[in-house]
Amino acid sequence: MGSKIVVNNYGSFDVTLKSGKGSTLTDINGKKYIDFLAGIAVNSLGHGYKPLVKAVSKQASKEIHVCNYYLSDTGVAYANELLNATGFDGVYFGNSGAEANEAAIKLARKYGQLNGGKKRKTIVTLEQSFHGRTLATIKATGQERFHPECFAPYPEGFKTIKANDWDAIQTAFDDTTAAFMVECVQGEGGVNLLDKKWLQLASDAARRAGAIVIADEVQTGMGRTGSLLASEQLMFNPEVVTLAKGIAGGVPMGAMLFRGKAAGVYEAGDHQSTFGGNPLACAAARVVLKTLKSPDFLAKVTQKGVLIRSTIKSWNLPNVKDVRGLGLMTGVQVDGDPVALEIACLDAGLLLATAGSDVLRIVPPLNISKKEIKAGLEILHQVLSK
Ligand SMILES: *Cc1c(COP(=O)(O)O)cnc(C)c1O
Repeated sequence: MGSKIVVNNYGSFDVTLKSGKGSTLTDINGKKYIDFLAGIAVNSLGHGYKPLVKAVSKQASKEIHVCNYYLSDTGVAYANELLNATGFDGVYFGNSGAEANEAAIKLARKYGQLNGGKKRKTIVTLEQSFHGRTLATIKATGQERFHPECFAPYPEGFKTIKANDWDAIQTAFDDTTAAFMVECVQGEGGVNLLDKKWLQLASDAARRAGAIVIADEVQTGMGRTGSLLASEQLMFNPEVVTLAKGIAGGVPMGAMLFRGKAAGVYEAGDHQSTFGGNPLACAAARVVLKTLKSPDFLAKVTQKGVLIRSTIKSWNLPNVKDVRGLGLMTGVQVDGDPVALEIACLDAGLLLATAGSDVLRIVPPLNISKKEIKAGLEILHQVLSK
């Protein structure tokens, strides 16, 4: 499995992809695959999307990078568009989800220090969460398998509670809590939905205790769930939202949005990134945002998600235990090893991923066609019926 040259941290499959168009990819042998994965919710506009290709090429010929000692016209334009679209007060740009979350954790700790003193440090997260692979963000991740002894010592000041546990709300937050950090839909942990009311009450309890609320929307953000941000639908008013994955349609980028109590916390020198807000990434992100805002685009994301889930449910297969999700983020809970099914799909020409211990994750490009959805679902049906 995988390559001997590129570090095999991913347990990669022996498939070398070469090109793509829309939501269909082709490997070096000419075999075609329907893309139900979008590079794990990254290629939000699919492959070879003309306006994105054009914008990136044009920006590359104009200016790829200026360091953050100066502003770039593309960066300023995108920041304004993003803040207008989301209603946040400010944004920090980075390059990845983990980095966006690191920026949010640092912001929360500084906020805590300014509003409660030295003891207000703790970041409360949820069991089964996933927040990234840096030392702080794996510690924030509420899954023990992500904290092996070989990487210790880990940063202190992280605590997990059970999602949708009403009793936990009473005891989770106190004067040591700097932030409550949650994914709107738990992606890596199994496409687990949060109870909207629970999320609102937990967020209110965190705020009453003096903490800020951080929505990790690295996977759910930028149209994935049928609204620009998933937190808009769930209405729990986070002060901070982190973004990455689909934000720039495949160009590496992360962002942290902040507002209200969380605005004005960072000062010059507090947090920086060399590549953060790079004009090339911002040029790509502008196309993604503009496309998401075009008429009916997000409504179609919702409809296509419903189509995928209702079709899978209609098969009534004995080895499908649950089908759940929001927008174009779907989890199919199966009986048995999801990796074997993932490999069977791959062999049959369908790319998808697993999540948690028994879930297949479907996160296709947001502009996937009905035809490609149908073709992908046919393959999935064949594989699941075997
Ligand atoms: C993927 C993911 C991350 C990590 O993003 P990277 O870009 O891989 O660092 C963090 N949080 C959530 C919810 C994610 O899905």
